[in-house]
Amino acid sequence: MLTVLKGRMIRVENGEVIENAIVATEDAAIVYAGEAEGYQIPEGANVVDVKDGTILPGFIDVHAHLTGHEDAGSFCHGRFFGDQLLGAAYQLSLLLSAGFTGIRDMSEAGLYLSRAVERGVLTGPRIVPGGRVLGITSGHIDTMPYMSKEDFNRENSLSYLIDGPDDCVRGVREQFRKGAKFIKICATGGVSSPTDRVDDVQFSPEELRAIVGEAKRHHTYVTAHCTGYEGAYQALLAGVECIEHGVMLTQREIDLMAEKKVPLVTTLWVSLNVANLPGFPDWMHAKAMLCAEANKKTVQMARKAGVKMALGTDFSNSRNTPYLKNGMEFEAMVQAGMTELEALQAGTINAAEIMRIPNLGLLKEGWIADIAVTDGNPLENISCLANAEHIPFVMANGKIVKNEL
Ligand SMILES: [Zn+2]
Repeated sequence: MLTVLKGRMIRVENGEVIENAIVATEDAAIVYAGEAEGYQIPEGANVVDVKDGTILPGFIDVHAHLTGHEDAGSFCHGRFFGDQLLGAAYQLSLLLSAGFTGIRDMSEAGLYLSRAVERGVLTGPRIVPGGRVLGITSGHIDTMPYMSKEDFNRENSLSYLIDGPDDCVRGVREQFRKGAKFIKICATGGVSSPTDRVDDVQFSPEELRAIVGEAKRHHTYVTAHCTGYEGAYQALLAGVECIEHGVMLTQREIDLMAEKKVPLVTTLWVSLNVANLPGFPDWMHAKAMLCAEANKKTVQMARKAGVKMALGTDFSNSRNTPYLKNGMEFEAMVQAGMTELEALQAGTINAAEIMRIPNLGLLKEGWIADIAVTDGNPLENISCLANAEHIPFVMANGKIVKNEL
């Protein structure tokens, strides 16, 4: 089936706006993207006029957690994994509705959902799964310290505790065993953890080397949650290839990232807003206040140094982080001083590079037909990406999954 979208398109790679454009797709591929002039619409094609809207590559969130939650603050506690998995399966439709046709996930559920989407059992964004987040006992992900480590590792569907180089290798292999395509670790403390400081360094250099080495032997890479800077520095030295959050990075880490071409996955909406959200304990509020200002600075430093930035949300469809508003991250990037085009690039082509899927993230002939249409022009008003209400049309892998046009 040939689908032909007519209207304004933005070439995200260079910011070129084509007011009178055609984007045509057949099966799972884009077969034409450019000026309407010079394209003959074939008979029988399904023609969609986007009116005042804009045709864009589908959005990609490279810091997602498919936890299946509807409540803030509950994390993964107190629910059967089956319930979480089914909740997350349903919520894939919310992500699509918001224009997100790709996510890189860090959770147990993402492993299964990724295969279900690939096999066509479920309709959802393409998912690159990392399995559970690996961290140390008493570190950022140790959210249930009242449980034994063994019980935690059996029960928790978001995180996995590992200690010592041998255990680190085992923890990494446990994720690969279930189909993880990359490994996520916590190299520093964080805002949401009760027993650490945001600038705590978590894994030792020996542990980091064990984790990175094991990932490399599987032809993949490690990404690291980094709020503080020293843990980020040690992770970079050990060969970590991607940094998440990067809230308090200093020039030393930024320069090293630029030199090693390590991208930064920002999660700015959360950074800028957590301190103002209701329902969190005082200790978390105090940590969050520290982070908002620091994170704006690191974004500017990263821009200047030429570090590639990609969009992450850290959303889990809680009351405060609804998937229908995943696109608020684009707004937060602009609030933090990025241009509208930089934000668009972060949520499309730059994120696609981190997904490590070729021909994803741009509107180009031969590229994957993942497409989102917004009702405005995001280069003039980035808010038209912020909410599913502004996204009338979505195509995922060549299939129309939303059409209100
Ligand atoms: Zn996260």
